[in-house]
Amino acid sequence: MKRKILVGNWKMNKTIAETIDFVNKVNEKALKVREEELIVGIAPSFLCLPVLRKLANGIVCFAQNVHFADNGAYTGEISPLMLQEIGVNASLVGHSERRQYFNETNETCNKKLKTLEKYNFNGLYCVGETLKEYEEGLTKEVIKKQVLEGIEGLSVEYISRLTIAYEPVWSIGTGKNASKEIASEICWYISEVISEKYGKEVGDLVYVLYGGSVKPENIKDYVNDSNIDGALVGGASLKAESFLQMIDNLLE
Ligand code: PEP
Repeated sequence: MKRKILVGNWKMNKTIAETIDFVNKVNEKALKVREEELIVGIAPSFLCLPVLRKLANGIVCFAQNVHFADNGAYTGEISPLMLQEIGVNASLVGHSERRQYFNETNETCNKKLKTLEKYNFNGLYCVGETLKEYEEGLTKEVIKKQVLEGIEGLSVEYISRLTIAYEPVWSIGTGKNASKEIASEICWYISEVISEKYGKEVGDLVYVLYGGSVKPENIKDYVNDSNIDGALVGGASLKAESFLQMIDNLLE
């Protein structure tokens, strides 16, 4: 059976001091629940990754982004080699805010995922349709394209260990979460799209998370669904109390 996953995406929030405070409150529980089949991860800013990595032995550390090149003239970017040096070997790719504000495309996401495979990093690839696409009934078409173009050319072994997060753009940070039915159907569809192209065994192995206005009050509705392997959480992951509450609710 797959272990459930809870990943907090802090976006551009929290200083180093705030990160230390959060870790002190959450790490012990995160360590304990690992034995109870729940994987807990946090994606802080790059600057807070070293301290999180050092102090939080119960928490998987994710970068929020990574560049596809090893090094070079890419001002402001961070390469997987730099992350590796501080012991980080997992990264988000293609978060909708990266797609929306930093022009990330399925093609750049694909390059990044290929780099993650090269360095044996765990990848958490985010996909999701905009409100306009949702209202026009294009959700499945958009998701299929994002998934297949993003993972094109990766080895089947690497695809099998990928995590994909379905995050409808209209539900991120808006308080308008997708219904449990929509989340379940699209998470199922993501596994199906992968199964169709790479075989059912591969589709079944890929982890599929839901993200979008998840909070302590609704996390169980999503994560108890058999098509959903966990949650990617933004706003509600920032306060230690609410993060701990989500862990407790998942274990109930
Ligand atoms: C996110 O940033 O990935 C996210 C899901 O945000 P929120 O939970 O705040 O909607």
